[in-house]
Amino acid sequence: MENWQENLKTADAKKLNTICCFCSCGCGMIASVKDGKLIGLEGDPNHPINQGALCSKGAAAAELHRSLDRVTEPLYRKSYADNWEPVSWDFALSLIAKKIYETREAHWESHESLPNGQQVAVNRMDAVAFFGSAVCTNEETYLEKKLALLLGTSYIEHQARL
Ligand code: SF4
Repeated sequence: MENWQENLKTADAKKLNTICCFCSCGCGMIASVKDGKLIGLEGDPNHPINQGALCSKGAAAAELHRSLDRVTEPLYRKSYADNWEPVSWDFALSLIAKKIYETREAHWESHESLPNGQQVAVNRMDAVAFFGSAVCTNEETYLEKKLALLLGTSYIEHQARL
């Protein structure tokens, strides 16, 4: 009997493990990439959450990748400008880091006064909030939480809780 798997269009494609981007279930997917292009996206049979299954949204997720509306580079809107301009990742990440640093410096609270006048150490900065995503894996979310706490903010929310 002919080996049908050899005839699949994804047979010689590179297989990459990824996560569905739609909801907080975090179903595992296998992306088949050939010549730098995504040619297949299917449920990962070895993933403990979905064991290969995908709902209709996950099954259609490859369409997001192919959408002409998909944003593929950082966009920046200058103050008072009415349009967004494409910028490099270096520019975007440096700007974000600079703004987080400046905000932390301006809003750092080392102590708080209790109603009885006692000063207690709090060491926090509540002027920056973190917002997680169902696209993130457990490991990425762990790092995000760690970064948020290192910066001193307790405002950490997640898309999946909305
Ligand atoms: S496949 Fe469906 S259930 Fe699974 S993460 Fe995607 S949207 Fe959620």
